[in-house]
Amino acid sequence: MTLALTPCRCGHAVTVEELLNALAPDAGGSSGFFISICAGCKESTMLSIQQGKIETGYTYWAGSMHFEAMYSQRVPGLGVEPSDPDDLTVKYKAKTWRFQNRRIQKARFVIPPGAPVIGTRIADLNLGQWGISVISCERAGSELATGSDISLQESDALNVEGVERMLARVWKRIVDGR
Ligand SMILES: [Zn+2]
Repeated sequence: MTLALTPCRCGHAVTVEELLNALAPDAGGSSGFFISICAGCKESTMLSIQQGKIETGYTYWAGSMHFEAMYSQRVPGLGVEPSDPDDLTVKYKAKTWRFQNRRIQKARFVIPPGAPVIGTRIADLNLGQWGISVISCERAGSELATGSDISLQESDALNVEGVERMLARVWKRIVDGR
């Protein structure tokens, strides 16, 4: 019997194999989290692959990276072997997937003149969907509380953490609007 998963809010069903096949080899973040793009709606979620279990949800920053599962599915026979130092080997039905986990990196996004995100609230950037956390926001040399409803202005600096390729992708989005 083929196990159908519906890890995305849109309800798009995938098999375990399809889900694993669709992950980029370096899609992993720290602690075994992956950024998974839904084949149905193209939205991204954070995916956690565990022994006998697959979860999707979102990550948030509260002193350290936390994961909140929105969807959890038992997958009998799913095996996970951590390997040196941040890589992950996943086995399911005699098939093997190897993922290279990228460490979470820090970056600094300085909002350039004319960027389409000027006037957008930090919360509305939805950076969490890309596994990116905002650590702090600086304006004219002073740090703003990121919990408040700050709308971005030119020259604001966002100090963020995330997976390298996602940081690059989001930076392009901030500068070009996509
Ligand atoms: Zn979807």
